Amino acid sequence: MASISQAKTVVKIGNVEVGGPRFTVMAGPCSIETEQQFQSTAKAVRSSGASVLRGGIWKMRTSKNSFQGLGSDAFEMIKKVKADTNMPLVSEVTDIRQVEEIHHLVDAYQIGARNMHNYSLLKELGRQPKPVLLKRSFSAFIDEWLKAADYVLAGGNDQVILCERGIRTFETATRNTLDLNAVVYAKKHSQLPVIVDPSHAVGISDLVPELCYASAAAGADGLIIEVHPKPSEALSDGPQALTFESFDKTMKQLEKVLHAFDKGLNKP
Ligand code: PEP
Ligand code: MN
Repeated sequence: MASISQAKTVVKIGNVEVGGPRFTVMAGPCSIETEQQFQSTAKAVRSSGASVLRGGIWKMRTSKNSFQGLGSDAFEMIKKVKADTNMPLVSEVTDIRQVEEIHHLVDAYQIGARNMHNYSLLKELGRQPKPVLLKRSFSAFIDEWLKAADYVLAGGNDQVILCERGIRTFETATRNTLDLNAVVYAKKHSQLPVIVDPSHAVGISDLVPELCYASAAAGADGLIIEVHPKPSEALSDGPQALTFESFDKTMKQLEKVLHAFDKGLNKP
């Protein structure tokens, strides 16, 4: 298992250092829907202080009838938005064939919660010269999550970020339960940076800001947050998306929390 005896890993997504002295905020829509939606969200999150952009191309939806993502129709939009905003992009690969397809478009590959146990996909990413953001499965033990990271590391790719995104518990009032135990545990038992996805953890936009502050106070290295220009019209995960305004307010408060811990934000 990844061990603490090694020096802490700093992961570079484009020019952004995750796991160094500064805290990193990644933000953007759950899914890329239109050029206008993606472009306006990228500009808004950047001006509020996010340094890495997120945006889903292929979505792992519970129902086959739900929006599955734009797939290759998003490629041109990504090129344009990245050229305009100069932000590095993290996006999920759900299939081994997509790794090659988007290698020129993304700065980090996301492994979603549902694919944390997809060891052939993890092995493939171990051979890639790009960072990997590894979500914890909603039903994985912390130990299984850390061992999943080892599949990437073993291939020679040391650029792995661990992401806690909420687990299934007996609780049904919220979408999942944010496991801050996992954040502090992984920080102590792994050399890898650890970030939190409060959006999928709680599933309710009004509750996301407080979980951002709690994650920063718990020592996370960063956050990945879903933001949408009109959450009520989002094609996926609208109920948990922050508006531009609420994201901006959250970022201002977050900086105060970080300041209390002598930490600064990685600026875009
Ligand atoms: C996502 O980031 O939109 C996503 C599907 O996350 P998860 O894999 O954590 O459910
Ligand atoms: Mn989502």
